[in-house]
Amino acid sequence: MAIMNGQEYIESLRKLKTRVYMFGEKIDDWVDHPMIRPSINCVAATYDAAAEASEQGLAVATSNLTGEKINRFTHIHQSTDDLIKKVKMLRMLGQKTASCFQRCVGMDAFNAEYSTTFEIDEKYGTDYHQRFLEFLKMVQEQDLTVDGAMTDPKGDRSKSPSEQANPDMYVRIVERREDGIVVRGAKAHQTGALNSHWHLFMPTIAMKEADADYAVSFACPSDVEGLYMIYGRQASDTRKLEPGADIDLGNKNFGGQETLVVLDDVFIPNEYVFMCGEWDFAGILVERFAGYHRQSYGGCKVGVGDVIIGAAGLAAEYNGVERASAVRDKLVEMTHLNETLYCCGIACSAEGHPTKAGNYEINMLQANVCKLNVTRLPYEIGRLAEDIAGGLMVTMPSERDMKSDLPVGRNGETIGEICEAYLQGKADVKTESRMRVLRFLENICIGAGAVGYRTESLHGAGSPQAQRIMISRQGSFEAKKRLAKKIAGITEE
Ligand code: SF4
Ligand code: FE
Repeated sequence: MAIMNGQEYIESLRKLKTRVYMFGEKIDDWVDHPMIRPSINCVAATYDAAAEASEQGLAVATSNLTGEKINRFTHIHQSTDDLIKKVKMLRMLGQKTASCFQRCVGMDAFNAEYSTTFEIDEKYGTDYHQRFLEFLKMVQEQDLTVDGAMTDPKGDRSKSPSEQANPDMYVRIVERREDGIVVRGAKAHQTGALNSHWHLFMPTIAMKEADADYAVSFACPSDVEGLYMIYGRQASDTRKLEPGADIDLGNKNFGGQETLVVLDDVFIPNEYVFMCGEWDFAGILVERFAGYHRQSYGGCKVGVGDVIIGAAGLAAEYNGVERASAVRDKLVEMTHLNETLYCCGIACSAEGHPTKAGNYEINMLQANVCKLNVTRLPYEIGRLAEDIAGGLMVTMPSERDMKSDLPVGRNGETIGEICEAYLQGKADVKTESRMRVLRFLENICIGAGAVGYRTESLHGAGSPQAQRIMISRQGSFEAKKRLAKKIAGITEE
């Protein structure tokens, strides 16, 4: 089955025996759980995109391993054109879901592992690259979703992995056997982990020799013995548990998801081990994965931004102010900011280059500039959206009030009729439409959707300081000084 559709993907999850806990309890029917299902629908959209003919140009690629047509989310980039198509595909999916569709972390991990395993083998004579190719063939042939698992809990940030009071604060090898390794630790805020068939674990920081047991990369299925997850909660998440909830959810069908993934002594056979003590490559793998994911944000967040701009425009229209110059100006400003992010995503892709292994890598400086902009501009886009939306976004009564037939008015009007009358904007627009668009903006600006659009924009793929460090390393300041000297006629060294 080279390409699955969304429904086939959802059915494939039912076959897994993934262990997940939420609110202190084990959740067995997690595929249909109302708090989890929207995030599964979101990943399903990445499958439908490849299955639907109209989107195949972006969402389908030809495997360099098998020559088969595959979902682009499992593809190894073969050109700058592939890198650009990836960004366009993510924007398209952001427009469709207005959420984090989670599957990009696996795609970005594949591409980082592809070049890094090649270079480890070159230096140490290991066979990680071949092992990784075999793993990737399985992923492509079965069209799997894979969680690219990087961020460790980290404990005391002033100490290295081997110096921590709790030695398990970074994932580590606790036993080396003839046929594989046993690993222990956890990965925090793992996007889409529960919705993944497999996980691809990577170190989270550059390591020193003393940290060799922490320099480990490997893959395992979601339901492997010893692995379990604890579901991360989001603002307003229990609204999804309210009977008949719809309008108040803002985005009923889609959402993101993060979990704490625990590895409680998991055995990994050698064929799925892709780094095992080569500490000098840990930082390289981290940088490459982060670089690809910083590029990704120049697509996905832009697609979500498109929906926010549309929603702000609708909110203004429903209030009868869409022609006001101040509103137009804010929409222009939001578009300017949003397209700036897209320009960065496209630029770092167009300026990409081949690695030693042959796959294409983004321009690292521009990918980091892209993500640093993403740590700021969505906040301003959200602020302007809230400005246009007005205070009703956070003060209006609930959907149940809108539907209530309890008579409370002096002429027997129901709560629903009172709300209907007083929450109306323009007379020819249904009050419900106005509520829907405001609830969407609430969701994305301060509700469950803000996890993906705001906090993830700040901290996902590394917090702003991580991008600043990369920019300072890649900024070629000395070369720029030489340019200035030449123009200014300075001859001293
Ligand atoms: Fe993909 Fe964006 Fe979610 Fe990262 S934040 S997994 S790039 S949709
Ligand atoms: Fe992310």
